[in-house]
Amino acid sequence: MPLTETHYPDSYYYHSANQIKDRPYLQEDIKTEVCIIGAGYTGLLSAINLAEKGYKVVVLESNRVGWGASGRNGGQVGSGHNKKIHELEKDYGESLARDLWNLSEEAKSVVQERIKLHKINCDLKQGNASVSNDPNDDRMHRDYVEKLNSDYDYKLIRYMDSSEVSEMFHSPFFNGGGSLDMGGMHLHPLNYALGLADAAEKLGVTIYEQSKVISYTKSEPSLIKTNKGNVTAKIVVLACNAYLEKLERKLAVKIMPVNNFILATEPLSKEDARYINRDDVCVHDNKFHVHYFRMSQDNRLLFGGGENYTRTYPKDLKSYVRKPMLDVFPHLSKTAIDYAWGGTIGVTVNRMTHIGRLEKNIYFSQGYSGHGVALASLAGTIIAEAIDGEATKMDIFGKVKIPTYPGGTLLRWPGFYLGMLYYSLRDRL
Ligand SMILES: Cc1cc2nc3c(=O)[nH]c(=O)nc-3n(C[C@H](O)[C@H](O)[C@H](O)COP(=O)(O)OP(=O)(O)OC[C@H]3O[C@@H](n4cnc5c(N)ncnc54)[C@H](O)[C@@H]3O)c2cc1C
Repeated sequence: MPLTETHYPDSYYYHSANQIKDRPYLQEDIKTEVCIIGAGYTGLLSAINLAEKGYKVVVLESNRVGWGASGRNGGQVGSGHNKKIHELEKDYGESLARDLWNLSEEAKSVVQERIKLHKINCDLKQGNASVSNDPNDDRMHRDYVEKLNSDYDYKLIRYMDSSEVSEMFHSPFFNGGGSLDMGGMHLHPLNYALGLADAAEKLGVTIYEQSKVISYTKSEPSLIKTNKGNVTAKIVVLACNAYLEKLERKLAVKIMPVNNFILATEPLSKEDARYINRDDVCVHDNKFHVHYFRMSQDNRLLFGGGENYTRTYPKDLKSYVRKPMLDVFPHLSKTAIDYAWGGTIGVTVNRMTHIGRLEKNIYFSQGYSGHGVALASLAGTIIAEAIDGEATKMDIFGKVKIPTYPGGTLLRWPGFYLGMLYYSLRDRL
């Protein structure tokens, strides 16, 4: 299956989307203050925040609004970053760890507030559980909860012992303890993206779909070219993340595009849904190749598992994801799989967000490493603030240096692939 398409993937999200509008493609030469490339959460929230500050904004999207990871993801809105709090402290010191934690708390608020403000109907619910299939992880769950409760005064998370985990999910796979974070949330990701696009347009932003940027200049103003029309803009925001391809080599060498896959079962009865997810929360385990799941509004199991690092997806995606789903819920062997799809995540070497400027007038954000529902939403706010002259939050992220993948865009694949192979073997031991 090719990775660039101009229609949405055949996902549960697409089939349960609120109204999907057709937007025009760019077919003339225009001028604007800010041109944003990419209409996922990063691009759309940059656009909304900039429009609110009075900027004239144009968004160019290769495919469709929310066509990328933002319309395909697991919908989990987690706390923190893709590094636990003790790792942040160890790697960056306590003071920066605290600043980063505070920003990740702000990221969740951005999601909640935008949904409320723009009245986005996207099935937002509270609750994010972390579980594991190794009883030896119990100490780790306890320590994590204790640290957040005491050192960060974060009381919304609590420890669950293994009997509560079993009672909550009825999975033979999860036989350790876990944690339940009621500050975490889950949502319908495509409807969130579509709602953001509508909100941006109401604020005066113009969005062009099927308008792939083929080049841009780093001059002031910048000339941004698509096949059928060009934009001249004082400021450019690169919001392409894992779908960036060759548009900007300096950004491409900082992220690895990793494909991740999800399925949706047929709708389950309410009782069966509550049997495998008592409190209707979203769930992930701590495997390197993470299993994650939650229930849809119509009680389907949405289950994510499996990754690859090539330019194509596995041929039979339903069977591919069904396998890990049955490892976790063997009693669903007779349940039909209605949809399976994949998307591409931008992963940095140290799993921390890469946000900043390439030039005085060229901004970017990418590499949320699987935490982008909240962090990409925050990135839009941060980029807009920085463009408007307030870069404090961008500077905090800037203190975390993002290493370049060894070998750049050409050789990062073999090295990364070997690394992944190592970790996936470790998962199975
Ligand atoms: C299967 C999957 C599951 C995930 N699960 C979770 C989860 O549960 N929780 C979580 O927090 N995160 C999750 N993520 C990650 C999260 O979805 C992303 O971090 C987030 O959506 C990134 O948003 P973005 O706007 O930066 O990028 P994207 O949503 O990928 O948007 C980038 C856009 O740029 C466009 N584009 C690229 N190049 C050009 C160009 N040259 N010209 C014009 N447009 C261009 C693309 O078409 C695309 O629409 C998951 C991702 C995947 C794929």
